[in-house]
Amino acid sequence: MPRVHFSESSCPSDRGHFINRADICVVLSRLPNELWQRLRAVHFNDRGFGVRRLGYVAGGRREITLCALPQRLGLSAFCRWNALSPSEFGAQWGAKSPAIAVRRFMLYEVFLHEIGHLQATDRPGRPSQRLRFDGERRAEEFAVTWRRRLWSEYFEHPDAAHNPPPTIAPPRLQGSDCTTKAEPVLDRHTDSSTQIT
Ligand SMILES: [Zn+2]
Repeated sequence: MPRVHFSESSCPSDRGHFINRADICVVLSRLPNELWQRLRAVHFNDRGFGVRRLGYVAGGRREITLCALPQRLGLSAFCRWNALSPSEFGAQWGAKSPAIAVRRFMLYEVFLHEIGHLQATDRPGRPSQRLRFDGERRAEEFAVTWRRRLWSEYFEHPDAAHNPPPTIAPPRLQGSDCTTKAEPVLDRHTDSSTQIT
């Protein structure tokens, strides 16, 4: 496995990180090395401007930073931005998000999205608005493709964050749309302007 440097900045607020270095290493170990051979460092900091930013790439597209999150969190706004369903991670629309769902989301959506940005070819100068938009689309396609590929088969690991939420048989009661097992939840907090960059 290529060598990656990790760093973590202290969070003066009550925000924190739902995932850590070990979690990232598991995800990287599941990806072909050539997809992240550019990666030199992964940073954990508290520069998300509240919850407006979850992660970003820097350092010449060789470093990924993941931003701290409040303990009170919901995934609806994040998922709406990228036309995803919270149920894919074990959360529900307009409901409190389980910590395990937030962890799945940070590892297999946000982090994979940032790995997607590393796939871009080097271009001199500042990219145009059109190229930046295209880069966002490609990064998100990368995240969705690899999440579904990695989650298409059960991954033997004690941490449930590395597999999709368990599905259960559709309830027999009419009118219910429950498709996932209930998991412990956190209080909900969303910001309609949130986005993954
Ligand atoms: Zn992005």
